[in-house]
Amino acid sequence: MSSAAENLTSPLLDKLRATVGAEHLILDALECEYYAQDVFSAASPAAAVVAPADKHQLAQVVHAAVEAGVAVVARGGGMSYTSGYVPAEPNSLVIDMSRMNRVLEINREDMFVTVEAGISWQALHKALKGTGLRTPYWGTLSGRYATVGGGLSQNSVFWGSGRHGSAVDSVIGLEVFLANGSILNTGSAAQLNASPFFRHYGPDLTGLFCGDCGALGFKATATLKLIPEAQAQAFASFAFERYEDMAPAMSEIARKELASECFGFDPVLQAQRMKRESLATDAKQFVGALKSAGGLGKAIKQGTKMAVSGRRFMDDVKWSFHFMTEGRTEASAEACLEAAREIVSRHQGRELADSIPRLVRANPFGPVNSMLGPEGERWVPVHGLLPHSKTVETIGKIEDLFAGHRQDMERLGIETGYLLATVSTNCFVIEPVFFWPDEMMEIHRRSVEADHLKRLKAFEQNLPAREAVVRLRADLGRLLQESGAVHLQVGKAYRYREGLKPESYALVSALKDVLDPAHRINPGCLGLD
Ligand SMILES: Cc1cc2nc3c(=O)[nH]c(=O)nc-3n(C[C@H](O)[C@H](O)[C@H](O)COP(=O)(O)OP(=O)(O)OC[C@H]3O[C@@H](n4cnc5c(N)ncnc54)[C@H](O)[C@@H]3O)c2cc1C
Repeated sequence: MSSAAENLTSPLLDKLRATVGAEHLILDALECEYYAQDVFSAASPAAAVVAPADKHQLAQVVHAAVEAGVAVVARGGGMSYTSGYVPAEPNSLVIDMSRMNRVLEINREDMFVTVEAGISWQALHKALKGTGLRTPYWGTLSGRYATVGGGLSQNSVFWGSGRHGSAVDSVIGLEVFLANGSILNTGSAAQLNASPFFRHYGPDLTGLFCGDCGALGFKATATLKLIPEAQAQAFASFAFERYEDMAPAMSEIARKELASECFGFDPVLQAQRMKRESLATDAKQFVGALKSAGGLGKAIKQGTKMAVSGRRFMDDVKWSFHFMTEGRTEASAEACLEAAREIVSRHQGRELADSIPRLVRANPFGPVNSMLGPEGERWVPVHGLLPHSKTVETIGKIEDLFAGHRQDMERLGIETGYLLATVSTNCFVIEPVFFWPDEMMEIHRRSVEADHLKRLKAFEQNLPAREAVVRLRADLGRLLQESGAVHLQVGKAYRYREGLKPESYALVSALKDVLDPAHRINPGCLGLD
């Protein structure tokens, strides 16, 4: 295996070493391989990995690499699976953002928080704890590792999304380093004398770098809006026989803005979730759930309900969704829950014990063990964002696609499931996921909890199944594009270029030429090579 020293010139390596210090310049071949693999794919190992301590070091690193003609790619928490940070070119430099993880300012008067882009959602959540404030959107389920910079670069959804939309809906401004080494402020901070208190001033320069998958520049810092933390929460779970009933119920709840989070499973994912959750885990999470439940009397009552229901309550459940809501007062949270119950009963749903949403909420940034299947199978999701009017029809088309490949999938041991979710009032997420027996990668071994890892099988390399998943994933991408879906996490995997109107893509392409004329920043993302 070649080492980085052979791939990058020594003047560049000397400059990088002088900038970040030798201990933050990784040249070890195995580490360079690890930093260039995401949860699904691996391509060329990085030639070197460099971890800047702050924005000044970041600027110098980017400038030195671009000047030397080396492709340079940012890696946040590494939790994605669309090759966003997997280098497209063999001799790329990967910038590990993990040292840029500080909260720079919590401004309670002007209601914003400024962070370095490499901070995880979990660390931001902890930093705001006790202030009575939070960001409207507050992270992904992978937020133990996934960063604010990664979430804004790909856009992401989950915590807070039911009411507040996706990650980019909560950002006010960015500091971005461009290929020429200059720094660009966006939002009100672009005004000569202003602070980063507001997003819009002329064209939305912040939006330009949101969802760019890091292809237009390097986010050094991000400023997010603050809102008061909710004082009350309410939870419920509902079961349905058919997605044709469940999806419209979720849509109606979204349109009425009743949920802070609303997510559902198909029968396969539902069964897996129950298999995965050992009773021991339930007991551990139970304590956290009690704490987050509010008043003690209520907590004991709810706790008893959860303990009694255990996991058996899900035994005969097919499709299910889980509802969380928040309010300024208990009465307002309860009113949203009551309205959701009424919608569910009109759509042939029935209420279940609310253990799942309570457990998920109790530990919002839990371990990322679900990046492998329950036995240790490999896992990869594909998703589409759709208007409510197209949800049921699109799930039907996906079911037909799977039915057409059923024999092959059974032969190769490929299983599928669905995660469904709503985002704000106007968007429905359909996320089919694949599981197949195949060997783990280093990223799985380092990210999944050690105890959990011990319980999993070690599957052997299974290229026929993996290649079939790659083909199915591409077919699904095409189907979703034809159905009018758009995507988060475009990376190098979705058909962004092919799916965009030519005038729109020409503008994206022209912006790339202006911001990164030599195409040295994350080539290949968004189809920009
Ligand atoms: C178990 C699990 C659960 C998940 N749950 C969710 C979920 O709830 N919701 C959801 O939307 N997704 C989820 N994901 C997917 C993934 O975690 C998210 O897409 C997340 O936003 C990735 O963030 P990251 O910091 O890990 O980014 P990375 O994977 O490190 O990078 C993503 C992209 O952003 C770019 N990038 C990163 N930092 C910067 C920067 N500072 N400047 C410029 N470009 C940058 C990279 O080059 C790359 O193109 C989950 C994944 C796993 C494995």
